[in-house]
Amino acid sequence: MSDVMAAAARIRGLADATPLVPAALSDRLGVELLLKLELCQPTGAFKLRGAVNAVAQVEGPGVVCCSTGNHGRAVAFAARQRGLRAVVCLSELVPQAKVEGIRAQGAEVHLAGRSQDEAQVEATRLAEAEGLIEIPPFDNAHVIAGQGTIGLELLSARPDLEALIIPLSGGGLAAGIALAAKAIKPGIRIIGVSMDRGAAMAEALAAGHPVYVTEVASLADSLGGGIGLQNALSYPLCAALLDEVVLVSEAEIYRAMQAVFHAERLVAEGGSVVGIAALLAGKLKLTGPAATVLTGRNVDMAQFKRVINGEPVTLGALELEGQHHEP
Ligand SMILES: *Cc1c(COP(=O)(O)O)cnc(C)c1O
Repeated sequence: MSDVMAAAARIRGLADATPLVPAALSDRLGVELLLKLELCQPTGAFKLRGAVNAVAQVEGPGVVCCSTGNHGRAVAFAARQRGLRAVVCLSELVPQAKVEGIRAQGAEVHLAGRSQDEAQVEATRLAEAEGLIEIPPFDNAHVIAGQGTIGLELLSARPDLEALIIPLSGGGLAAGIALAAKAIKPGIRIIGVSMDRGAAMAEALAAGHPVYVTEVASLADSLGGGIGLQNALSYPLCAALLDEVVLVSEAEIYRAMQAVFHAERLVAEGGSVVGIAALLAGKLKLTGPAATVLTGRNVDMAQFKRVINGEPVTLGALELEGQHHEP
């Protein structure tokens, strides 16, 4: 908790404190739901918090990371603020819009391999070869503390929150928020939500140890990738602090992207709306006020337009049928 408080002071003015707004979907869901709008961050995703906190503590000429897109953009942004060199390693699964967002921040992009795991190997190689400091996307104390500042903001705005519904990939976000929120309010329920194909943290928690997963294309592209078989921090923290993990299908994510666009008038990535997908699918029973984090807005625009227009979407080998939005 003291690391999270220190992170809050360190990132002030560099990563934004974001709005917490009532969800228009609350009535339909029959529960008071609040949306933490991390998609309003200058880089379009919450990852700026952890990246700024970590990059602020770097001593050296530059940084390197692997990323499914949003962490790379955040590290590039944070490095540019400090005048440091940034190198970002990405797999072929990263959407072009995210690659361009990273280059626009002045970072060097290395396309390496077919999965986040392969991009990770390249990042570690470059760190050693070029004397760069590696900033991991989730399994790092500074990154987790930075993401935890969301938990501080949530509970200082609404101490009555009973549950937090958190998109879950490598678990830096969920671990940080859970650390802070449970320090303030031990009884609060923390629910992680992932897609039902290739959810590395969910599979690790079920197995009782980190496991290898095959990465597949998903509407929730930000949630892809392994957690690292040597995971040191985000896995044990999630194992200790998450009360529940829920999985949602691609069709449920598709419907949630539509619902968030039409009802909330927000552009949100698939990885952002998995909490809402779980609620709309009736997979979560809530009693009191709850919040979910809308984690990012860096959609692939062509795919996003297909979703909100109810058209079919191709995800690797999976052909997802079009679904018309019911108002
Ligand atoms: C990274 C990311 C997540 C998941 O965060 P983890 O710390 O890896 O669990 C969720 N949503 C978006 C948009 C992301 O970029």
